[in-house]
Amino acid sequence: MTGAMLDVAWNHGTPGEPRIQVHHYDAGTVILRQSKRLNYEAPFMFLLFGADRALLLDTGATEDPARFPLRETVDGLVAEWLAAHPREGYELVVAHTHGHGDHVAADAQFADRPDTTVVAREVEAVREFFGFGEDWPTGTALFDLGGRELTLLGSPGHHASAVTVFDPATGFLLTGDTVLPGRLYAFDYPAFLATLDRMVDFASGHAVTHVIGCHVEMGRAPGREYPIGARYQPDERAPQMTPAQLTVVRDAARAVAGRRGVHRFDDFVVYNEPRKRDMYRLLAKGLAHKVLAPLRRRSAPAR
Ligand SMILES: [Zn+2]
Repeated sequence: MTGAMLDVAWNHGTPGEPRIQVHHYDAGTVILRQSKRLNYEAPFMFLLFGADRALLLDTGATEDPARFPLRETVDGLVAEWLAAHPREGYELVVAHTHGHGDHVAADAQFADRPDTTVVAREVEAVREFFGFGEDWPTGTALFDLGGRELTLLGSPGHHASAVTVFDPATGFLLTGDTVLPGRLYAFDYPAFLATLDRMVDFASGHAVTHVIGCHVEMGRAPGREYPIGARYQPDERAPQMTPAQLTVVRDAARAVAGRRGVHRFDDFVVYNEPRKRDMYRLLAKGLAHKVLAPLRRRSAPAR
């Protein structure tokens, strides 16, 4: 049943597509995606409803509410949920998979929202808010939305304040930018490996249905990757991965430990503490694509 509900025609940069795509996975679970027309990062965001509060995980890559009306969209979704589940003083918590700019950009849109807590992006704030205590990042923290208790795993490696969120109601393991079908930038490799080990251990003991990160950069063909900066990805694959693929990521990451640089696999690319030249090469490819893609599109037959 759940598989069908992720069979979504996601926005991928088509002219005229909505700035924020809203997908109701179930009555209490909404997946949002920012349009690639606004920002090539096109992050996914998650809105999870419990009996007492909702969690908005990530606020996208664009600050300006006129261009990126996230607050308006979320307010509408909360009002819709409350109309079906009336109650007083319903809270919204805005938190993040990690603190990079393309996940926190619209935080300020929620600053003056009533009954709302915006968790700061820094690791200290994340640890304190969720109650990780001293055993960060090895311990877990529980966060109860009201009849829906999430488990958070400290997940540094891509970013110091990264967390992974497990939602037992859907079986989603939300992995931010740590695990996704695309480029896995591991800036602190030992921390990244330890995080992947903890994720795999956790998944082996819990009913994880889908592993879902925040971006898609791979095309459907194995090993095919869209360049950085791509604003049109007609052949991108689905965002969700399986628990088995999570183990494949961990095993692949282990296999290239100690070898700095770029390592390509069918479903993802590992950037092991990328050097300057790795990042320059990535950006040069992106730039070439930016110049050439419109020309290619113009000469390609319309579909
Ligand atoms: Zn990101």
